[in-house]
Amino acid sequence: MKFLVTAGPTREFIDPVRFLSNPSTGRMGFAVARAARAAGHEVVLVAGPVSLRTPKGVRRIDVVSARDMLAAVEKEDFDCLVSTAAVADWRPARMAAKKLKKSEMSGTLRLVRNPDILKTVAHGRAGCRQRAGSAVRRQILIGFAAETGEPTAEAARKCREKGLDLVVANDVTAAGSGFGTATNRVAFVWPDGRIERLPMLSKYAVAKRIVKVAVSAA
Ligand code: C5P
Repeated sequence: MKFLVTAGPTREFIDPVRFLSNPSTGRMGFAVARAARAAGHEVVLVAGPVSLRTPKGVRRIDVVSARDMLAAVEKEDFDCLVSTAAVADWRPARMAAKKLKKSEMSGTLRLVRNPDILKTVAHGRAGCRQRAGSAVRRQILIGFAAETGEPTAEAARKCREKGLDLVVANDVTAAGSGFGTATNRVAFVWPDGRIERLPMLSKYAVAKRIVKVAVSAA
């Protein structure tokens, strides 16, 4: 199978020296890339700005903004997309070409919505199925839902709304779970509403389970 994995944060620049972003380190996505490669699959990793080493045998594409990430994802063919990236939902309406002086800043920043990469791909997939009938090959889409609090109700909604095969929900505020940790406590949420709560595991162990789900769904 060919896995396409998005990882890390995106940066949305206000001017050449300032940006909007989030604390994602890319660890979960890099673990998925490593696990998929270790299981013998072809892997392309689309990474936002992170300081992690590329797993051996993985093709890595570095991007900065959400729009860059979408463009990179749209160029790649895949059997399974695992979208772990913490994509910035908003970007400044315009990026100043030169560093803004304090006196030029009003205290208000106008923002516009970024594209939802996963939703764009999911909708493209549905359209493609309609056009090609049953001949089109099945693509598996796996999303993440980083929540602050009980994750699963929100994740089930996301799974249906985005047309995903699985949502991996995690409470990023729980100890040992979320941004930058080596471990994660997650729940697998399927489109039919089934929920499997996993114990605290290393991100690599979570990644191996995700790869297994993808392989059995293909
Ligand atoms: O709706 P929410 O942002 O919580 O959805 C999270 C999932 O959607 C993650 O898998 C994330 O990688 C993906 N996503 C995306 N593009 C965005 C926002 C989120 O692909 N602009």
